[in-house]
Amino acid sequence: MESSSPSVPFPLLQAPVESTYRACTIPYRFPSDNPRKATPVEIQWIDLFLNSVPSFKQRAENDPTVPDAPAKAEKFAQRYTTMLEELKKNPESHGGPPDCILLCRLRDLVLRELGFRDIFKKVKLAEVFAKDGMSFLASCQNLVSRPWVIDDLDAFKSKWTKKSWEKAVIFVDNSGADIILGILPFARELLRRGTKVILAANDMPSINDVTYPELVEIINELKDADGKLSGVDASGLLVANSGNDLPVIDLSSVSPELAFMANDADLVMLEGMGRAIETNLYAQMKCDSIKIGMVKHPEVAQFLGGRLYDCVFKFNEA
Ligand code: MG
Repeated sequence: MESSSPSVPFPLLQAPVESTYRACTIPYRFPSDNPRKATPVEIQWIDLFLNSVPSFKQRAENDPTVPDAPAKAEKFAQRYTTMLEELKKNPESHGGPPDCILLCRLRDLVLRELGFRDIFKKVKLAEVFAKDGMSFLASCQNLVSRPWVIDDLDAFKSKWTKKSWEKAVIFVDNSGADIILGILPFARELLRRGTKVILAANDMPSINDVTYPELVEIINELKDADGKLSGVDASGLLVANSGNDLPVIDLSSVSPELAFMANDADLVMLEGMGRAIETNLYAQMKCDSIKIGMVKHPEVAQFLGGRLYDCVFKFNEA
């Protein structure tokens, strides 16, 4: 089921959303900047997206579901590159000024216009139990030492021993090991303690993010005949379609279904660099919140004053 209703603000954002919330952590520009001239930060980020064009083009070329994929992939590369170059010359073009949300949105729009729906499909499910286990292990071994650049893990651990949350909403990120070995074990621990858990997943495919239908399928496969997840009653586990179609998330527009389901939650968790760090690190919630992710861009590391592959574990109490 794909979401077609108009989107609404995530109900747990601190009100008034219009003045307290913006889905952009790094300030690309300030009100005093010339609206007709790209700022150094805008140029830095446009270049980052320009550098990603060849790898997206390569994935698109190899999409077996699209006829004439190589020619269309070439078109994608040309169109998106042109847009980015135009944004550098005139930051007000293409719906600018640019931020992370816009740059991601334009890339997905061009891909979808050319008929590419899910160029990362191949990396998402087939490899879940094979290669991803290894990559997860490698990521664990590459974790930098604590304290991390933002490190509230001890504060969270101490809260965990004292408090049981009634309902948690987790905005999930990537498919594969990320969801299977990262999110689901955490969700299972919450369920074991009696917390209801809502996993909010993307409506549409974007990069390697797990989608709502994929997540429903994964969880059905993992549950045993009694509806348990490795021995833990999973009747309190629900999957919601977040209505999102990007690898980052703008919480000022989520699906009405998610808004309804999440309304009385007392814990919100955002996971992954795009959602937790680049767009929502400073998002203020009415309830306890966790933002967790690994820093995989030097530009983000520089902004946070941390190391590449540093981690963010931000815990805020209501
Ligand atoms: Mg992702």
